[in-house]
Amino acid sequence: MIQAPKSNELFLRAQNSIPGGVNSPVRAFRAVGGNPRFMVSAKGPYMYDEDGNRYMDLINSWGPMILGHAADVVNEAVKKAIPNSLSFGAPTRKEIEIAELIVSMVPSIEKVRMVNSGTEATMSAIRVARGYTGRDKIIKFEGCYHGHGDSFLIAAGSGAITLGVPDSPGVTKGTANDTLTAPYNNLKAVQTLVEANKGQVAAIILEPVAGNMGLVTPADGFLQGLRDLCDKEGIVLIFDEVMTGFRLSPGGAQQLYGVTPDLSTLGKIIGGGMPVGAYGGKKEIMDYVAPAGPVYQAGTLSGNPIAMSAGMAMLTYLNDHPEVYTQLEQTTLKMVEGMQANMQKLGLNFTINRIGSMFSIFFTDQPVYDFESAKNSDTAFFGRYFNAMLQRGIYLAPSQYEALFVSTAISEELVAQYIQANYESLQQALQA
Ligand code: PMP
Repeated sequence: MIQAPKSNELFLRAQNSIPGGVNSPVRAFRAVGGNPRFMVSAKGPYMYDEDGNRYMDLINSWGPMILGHAADVVNEAVKKAIPNSLSFGAPTRKEIEIAELIVSMVPSIEKVRMVNSGTEATMSAIRVARGYTGRDKIIKFEGCYHGHGDSFLIAAGSGAITLGVPDSPGVTKGTANDTLTAPYNNLKAVQTLVEANKGQVAAIILEPVAGNMGLVTPADGFLQGLRDLCDKEGIVLIFDEVMTGFRLSPGGAQQLYGVTPDLSTLGKIIGGGMPVGAYGGKKEIMDYVAPAGPVYQAGTLSGNPIAMSAGMAMLTYLNDHPEVYTQLEQTTLKMVEGMQANMQKLGLNFTINRIGSMFSIFFTDQPVYDFESAKNSDTAFFGRYFNAMLQRGIYLAPSQYEALFVSTAISEELVAQYIQANYESLQQALQA
């Protein structure tokens, strides 16, 4: 039985000085009960908490740690950059090198601007789309999360669903009115919205593989259907690849599915664990961004030399080692097959969605293809399952409405441990 007295004490203390005791809501374990674990260090597949407990990590900082924690290739690059100053606020060669590498890897990107988070990337991308088209409205999908920019906190996924606030207070009615929403995987609904708002829609933004209502993959023809609609109506198609970029393939989901958006947003892996995001796309659109064009967007720490060094090391490694993607897929497939075999033994028929090294288990026997169907999952069961896994030293995302991310540090032996823990935890969750 894992005990965490120091984490419990820290969580109590944290609540006096930090809202809810955490700096990002889902970390608080609100949806699963119990207290969050305060981490001290991590290496490879493991994180270690204040009480010295060790956890096999299947969140990997919510995606970035694709090579496992504290990967030497990234850490060495950061160490090398530090003595040269942490920030210049002036351009560097490294920014050109990473931009050129991103352009070479991601099909839609001809020019790219670095920012400091996924939120900044998506906020900036829709501003550019609005500036470029001269239109105000955007279409997003229910259960997709694009960071905490005002325009996106409408039917938002991730922590916003977990905490039951998909439409956040503090977003003005004017902003909310400009965000139209459709169910994921429902092309017809999008066509109807576009028809009803003819000539007013600047952008359609989506996660090409959704990870923020749990993992939901695009139905056959959905992405291409959106591409065709956007071409016909002069709408900017934006793929938010903050999660999927450099994870599902070196060129992200757009490369995997062979559909090229006009703009893409990136985050997570692109910084190798440092706070980095980026947005990019067609030259014609990106040249609207200041100082090339009139759409203003800036950042004191954007293109930060330490962050660029970490990102460059990570992306170079992935670009030079495409076998990483085969390894990740095989590992994840074994984990999912093991879970399916466990369910068969226990007479259960839950839904597992997987693509590449991302997956989610939903506690429903119905297929999950949008936010409504994701809500069929028994979240109380999820809470029991999560805590049973945690007790066995396996750290999952503390919400049903998140995807899990596998790293290359997960060995065959750890896959076997994971499958065994899954079996015992399903059994335990059934008993309550
Ligand atoms: N877009 C997507 C698809 C995301 O998953 C996230 C964060 N999980 C964001 C945007 C926001 O990124 P950040 O938390 O870095 O602001």
